Amino acid sequence: MKNCEPLLRIAIDGPGGAGKSTIAKLLAARYDIPYVDTGAMYRAVGLKMTRLGLPFEESDELTAMLDSTDIDFVVENVILDGEDVSGLIRTQEISAAASACSKLASVRKKLVALQKEMGKVRSVVMDGRDIGTNVMPDAEFKFYITASARERARRRYLELINKGEQADFDTVLAEINERDYNDMHRELDPLRKADDAIEVDTTHMGIEEVLESVVRLIDN
Ligand code: C5P
Repeated sequence: MKNCEPLLRIAIDGPGGAGKSTIAKLLAARYDIPYVDTGAMYRAVGLKMTRLGLPFEESDELTAMLDSTDIDFVVENVILDGEDVSGLIRTQEISAAASACSKLASVRKKLVALQKEMGKVRSVVMDGRDIGTNVMPDAEFKFYITASARERARRRYLELINKGEQADFDTVLAEINERDYNDMHRELDPLRKADDAIEVDTTHMGIEEVLESVVRLIDN
């Protein structure tokens, strides 16, 4: 009986570009449990604020907007107010918008509440910045996946080039450093390793190797 199975909630945190979402998706497939990409939720709000021309600060308009915003996942696609925005949220402009809106208390309050609900009494893999510390502090497994800023910039640069987009390595590196700084120094739910999270540095590891080491820890 499904509801007698032990819960498997896996929290994955770490800086942008460290390989969190790749590992999270592979773990979700391996254990046949849902994947929740919380960064995509901040990106969706960032996209909506950009479209509406809302400044990245608290306002009555923002409160009203959040009250009438619906964010959901269909498999791994992000649905914003009924529209599949999965592709639209992956631009550099929306990465910056996500980072800017994630500082706002009203945005975090709404998204963290949704995420807590998604991680309640069911098995799930969730990745983000504050999952092990704030969203699912009682997760069965917590990982902090990291890599050097240069290596993360190299991966991101190659990803952009492979997508046929224009990219400049130094600009990508500067953006990664800026996003790290913002994520680690913001007042609300800053990025940090939970005391009981296992750190995995992927700078010199291939994805298969990372997956194997994480699975070994879960299965043992
Ligand atoms: O993971 P991803 O790069 O898609 O996240 C986009 C942005 O959303 C991050 O730079 C971070 O500022 C924010 N975020 C957050 N808390 C989370 C997930 C993402 O503040 N749990």
